Amino acid sequence: MDHTIKRLLMHINDRAKSLSEQERKALQIVCKWGCDGSQENLYEDGPSNIIQSSFIPLKLVCSFNNKIIWQNPMMWSTRYCRAIKIRFEKLTPDIMLEEIDYIKNGISTLKASKILLYNKTFTVEHKMIYTEIDEKVCNADVHANSTPKCYICNRTTKDFNNLSMVKKDIKVPEMLEFGLSITHIRTRLFESLLYLSYKLPLKKWETNDNDASIIKQRKIDIKNKFRMEMDLLVDRKKLSGNGTYNNGWASRKFFLNPEQTAKITGINIDLIKRFKVILETISCKYKIQLNKFAAYAHKTAEMYVELYPWCPMTPTMHKILMHGPIIIQHSIIAIGQLSRTVEKVQNKLIPLFNDDGADLSQTECNKQILDDLLARSDPLITGMSSSLERKKKIRFLIKETSEMLLPTESEMPQDNASSDEDDYDGEDSELSSDEN
Ligand SMILES: [Zn+2]
Repeated sequence: MDHTIKRLLMHINDRAKSLSEQERKALQIVCKWGCDGSQENLYEDGPSNIIQSSFIPLKLVCSFNNKIIWQNPMMWSTRYCRAIKIRFEKLTPDIMLEEIDYIKNGISTLKASKILLYNKTFTVEHKMIYTEIDEKVCNADVHANSTPKCYICNRTTKDFNNLSMVKKDIKVPEMLEFGLSITHIRTRLFESLLYLSYKLPLKKWETNDNDASIIKQRKIDIKNKFRMEMDLLVDRKKLSGNGTYNNGWASRKFFLNPEQTAKITGINIDLIKRFKVILETISCKYKIQLNKFAAYAHKTAEMYVELYPWCPMTPTMHKILMHGPIIIQHSIIAIGQLSRTVEKVQNKLIPLFNDDGADLSQTECNKQILDDLLARSDPLITGMSSSLERKKKIRFLIKETSEMLLPTESEMPQDNASSDEDDYDGEDSELSSDEN
């Protein structure tokens, strides 16, 4: 933490120097942290599973006047992603719990960083926010055993379409600090609609042997249409056998053009459009008007249940439509910024078992990997390079989305190059280039 903060203060140089003594004594760094595992077998002779815990600095603020001194311009990206620990093991709920406990313990013992720089002392408190990485991780963390259960209201899939039942007894649990993972939600929603479309001709969820051939043929038709008409591989297993191509990039393409998606899947176009608006709302950097979002999400849930009463909502659909507003309300920073940490991408960057590493002991090899990860995410170096690489893009919001947002605040000094819109794009393009 000390080193990261020091490099960050060096990066913002003049801004750091201009802080008053009072401000220097009351700094706070806000970071998100999480753990994730890679299931890719990337190295023939290497371990097939890597788990990485890491944190991403989000902003440096002055706690007494809320002045934002620095804000991460690439919160979606791995660029500032600081490795805490790597572990060569398969990610299971038990191991995930162990890792989460390990990091939480570490965080509880953190003392404010005192950085001596420019002949001045900077005192920086740490605020570490745990970020949901995956549904299974979330469930692991709250000791829930099965994925089809909602970790917020404890209802199971069979109750999800009964909206009045779900609404009643929501406990406000501490796990709301998890926030929402945008890529995860978008991908899971895309899959929910895809699986729904396979069963549309049957209009029932539980199927029997007689239905199997109908579903099989329909799957083939839909997949082919996606490939032919949208150049999109859906629900196809990767050659490696690990996972499918249903990733962040594919899901973005799916929701980008509701007309075409509706035509291929046979799913109601207005429903797809509404999901598109919801996804855009939660992934943009602006503050959301919760009452409007709640009404919009609930109306969408009603519409879904009316259209497809036979197909239970998936946990993710349920979570975003029924609990989205309350999660947003309890999140400390704008929801779009609490996105999934993309360690998966970084995991793949680990230059493991390369030729150079062949003669090293395991300890030396691990040290080199960690050094390499830290060098790649160094705030001073990253801060310098980011400004050269990205051009500013403007993303236009759908009318329905802008109606759910609060007026913008021009609050933060940006690193002069990129914006959150870039990050939004960057996340998926990184994932797509990596995974496809
Ligand atoms: Zn729930």
